[in-house]
Amino acid sequence: MFPGVIDRYREFLPVDDATPSVSLGEGTTPLVRSSSIGDSLGCRELYFKLEGCNPTGSFKDRGMVVAIAKALEAGKTRIICASTGNTSASAAAYGARYQLETLVLVPAGEIALGKLAQAMAYGARILAVNGSFDEALTTVKGIVESWDIELVNSLNPYRIEGQKTGAFEIVDDLGGAPDILCIPVGNAGNITAYWKGFKEYRGIGRIGKTPKMMGFQAAGAAPIVRGVPISNPKTIATAIRIGNPASWEQAEVARDESAGLIEMVDDNAIVEAYLRLAREEGIFCEPASAASVAGLLKLPELDVDLTGKTIVCVLTGNGLKDPGTAEKRALVELEYVEPDVVSVMNLLASGK
Ligand SMILES: *Cc1c(COP(=O)(O)O)cnc(C)c1O
Repeated sequence: MFPGVIDRYREFLPVDDATPSVSLGEGTTPLVRSSSIGDSLGCRELYFKLEGCNPTGSFKDRGMVVAIAKALEAGKTRIICASTGNTSASAAAYGARYQLETLVLVPAGEIALGKLAQAMAYGARILAVNGSFDEALTTVKGIVESWDIELVNSLNPYRIEGQKTGAFEIVDDLGGAPDILCIPVGNAGNITAYWKGFKEYRGIGRIGKTPKMMGFQAAGAAPIVRGVPISNPKTIATAIRIGNPASWEQAEVARDESAGLIEMVDDNAIVEAYLRLAREEGIFCEPASAASVAGLLKLPELDVDLTGKTIVCVLTGNGLKDPGTAEKRALVELEYVEPDVVSVMNLLASGK
């Protein structure tokens, strides 16, 4: 049995004997070596960190487990978040398991189907707001000021604490930090958390260095790249459809301290990376996650030399979260056939 992230990295987390034991078996996700994309880029080694293997299918569980443990420790009975989908799925799962009333605000009509299905199944109360994620988050921030309910968005510092364990696992698996980490950027909590993790873990493992942090926003939702909030962000990658990131400054600090960059990739590049991952690597991630690989593929254009480098792309969520995008973008048609050997063989022989 795997320990959850709190047990695995207890000494690096703000927990003690008074903190309730909370876990759904999150963390310890696979770091899978690229079989194709890495070779085409000439880097030494390329790995994918499969965060879609977390219990609710995204990295959000790493932070949620610590936020929930601390909320229980503080005697809270209710939690709330604004969400593009995965935070609400994660909050709803831990909320259900630890009997916390869970309230989630999502932008109406902008949530991938799998994520909404999860929050519904776990029994959260779901408010679909007539507005963007950013407006939902502003509303939630107002609510927590006047009501005794725990905020579990990544503004909650315990979320960042938990999410930094992704960086620890990479260093543990590689025996040191990679040269480059590619990661999608939405509300910018995760890039903030990984950078914190790499800094805290520096000196542990064989190579006492930290990676260059390369963050990627979607072109229609790239406030950090453009230097201004985007009031109506648009992208197929709903998990990063965010116009005014809560951790904007910390993301810039991660970029600058690590001598990295924050760039943008358009939706076509995201879909291309999404399909290459599925068809060349056998890895099905959600579109937002593929932004990290779309970004990696763009690095040569940005004059970043990849030769001899060890690179990790964080694939933040599971492809099953967003069945609609696969259906629309994979361009595969079902071939209907009668259920007998002759019909199937005839169809295959017809060369169609
Ligand atoms: C939340 C999320 C992101 C963005 O992470 P931030 O911490 O908001 O930058 C990226 N991909 C997926 C799948 C997510 O759920």
